[in-house]
Amino acid sequence: MTERSDAAPTHGPGGPYIEGVSDYCDRWCERCPLAGRCRLRAFELELGDLADPADTDADRRARFWRALKTVYGVDARGELHESDASTVDEVWQGDGAAAAIYEEAEADDWDGDAALEERDEPTDPLAIAARELAVDLLKWLREHGEAAQIACDAAAVHPCGVAPADALDVIRWYGVQLGPKLQRAVRSDAKGNARDRAGSAKVALLAAERTFGGWTVLRDVLPAALPARRAEFAAEIADFQRRLASLRAGIDRAFPAARTFVRPGFDDGTLEEPAAL
Ligand code: SF4
Repeated sequence: MTERSDAAPTHGPGGPYIEGVSDYCDRWCERCPLAGRCRLRAFELELGDLADPADTDADRRARFWRALKTVYGVDARGELHESDASTVDEVWQGDGAAAAIYEEAEADDWDGDAALEERDEPTDPLAIAARELAVDLLKWLREHGEAAQIACDAAAVHPCGVAPADALDVIRWYGVQLGPKLQRAVRSDAKGNARDRAGSAKVALLAAERTFGGWTVLRDVLPAALPARRAEFAAEIADFQRRLASLRAGIDRAFPAARTFVRPGFDDGTLEEPAAL
């Protein structure tokens, strides 16, 4: 699991950003070890909260163009010929897909199948399996997430070195990311974009493996912490892991270039470099 990182990018135009670092990342910026070298993160931090009700549309537009100029070093207003609020809305999607999904899942009338069907209907068997897994995960979290959180918060660090609460965070984050990334890989395939196909499939592969790892920790924590549901937890976690293992094998078969795909910054040795003084 990655280290937490609150590092804010401090570099302006021409700073030591890594080109393409955000193309195939997991969008978990708060934990990203390369947050300080990511132009997209810098842009989002400059942009701030566009949903703040205290702001006027004019405030938001001004911040948007200022952020583009500060981080990208160009007068984007002149280059893009755009200055209306709808552009801001298109560029900035709020807290990200995962946060939105969990927020929706809290609603009393939430229907997991219908909600995810409204998004991007997958056609590929692997993406369909990933979506079904995400729906079942959301249902499980809705029913047991709170009890699991309490149990994980109280549990000692797992022998593998991971805090159970972190493992639960990992499941929440990556469990719903797997399907959309797979769907993007399939779409890139149809467009003949081999790089995007392999890169997106790699993110999906990592999501499957990390979610599997998160369940391994919870498999040791939940049945012991909540003995009244010991057998049920064991069976449910085994089922999630079986399906994740099957997806992982399926991704390896369908996207053989994914595992060796080199993501800028994450897989090219940058993380091993000594920090710059
Ligand atoms: S690389 Fe991705 S996860 Fe890391 S800071 Fe940039 S957008 Fe966030």
